[in-house]
Amino acid sequence: MTKKIYLFFGPPGSGKGTQSDILGRKLKLPVISPGELLRHEIEKKSKIGLTVQSSMSQGKLVSDGIIEKMLDKRLAKPDTKKGFIMDGYPRREQQLVFLKRKLKKILKPGDKLMAINIDVSDKEVKKRVTGRRVCDCGAAYHLQYNPPKKIGRCDLCGKKLEQREDDKPKIVKERLHYYHHVIKSIIHYFRDAYVLLNINGERSIKIIEKEILSKVKATK
Ligand code: AMP
Repeated sequence: MTKKIYLFFGPPGSGKGTQSDILGRKLKLPVISPGELLRHEIEKKSKIGLTVQSSMSQGKLVSDGIIEKMLDKRLAKPDTKKGFIMDGYPRREQQLVFLKRKLKKILKPGDKLMAINIDVSDKEVKKRVTGRRVCDCGAAYHLQYNPPKKIGRCDLCGKKLEQREDDKPKIVKERLHYYHHVIKSIIHYFRDAYVLLNINGERSIKIIEKEILSKVKATK
């Protein structure tokens, strides 16, 4: 069986979470998002959750060791056998080193790896994140572009929607700076070693979804 791995990149609010979920459903691949896994730990009030809570709310990256442990556990599950989609990893040089080591073990000749970068201008990012609302269950909305059916409530589970601490303006500015200075060089690694798909993220969710799917299918 050919394994397929897709790594999503993009600045905060680029829609990479939304698009990785859509692609995951279409290709029937699990989506692995360290951010989601961590939020889940916080909700459970687990030891990991209590450790990472404060750095996460400030938009700071949590320690590599914690993420590595979580990923080791997640990637050992049988649903990753035919591949997976990664949203939000790797995010720094050390994480790239870890993933390269993993890929060496996971990838066999003929397997496929593609990086997908969703490009959105800083100005648009700032506009978007102020309207983003999320639910504990993992669903994400935007007050203007992707509103829930009932104001302030999740369409999927009915829980109250919240604004993420790290979507506050000062923190978004820092995350953007980080994206331009660190994440871009990680993206360049995948561009040179594998395949990079650059997507204009300043269009509707539907159009972006269609473009990603057709390009993913066209790349054998
Ligand atoms: P995200 O949902 O991908 O925007 O991530 C939310 C938060 O989770 C980040 O601001 C970090 O605090 C943490 N996080 C997510 N991915 C990573 C990662 N690869 N390394 C370290 N921390 C991460």
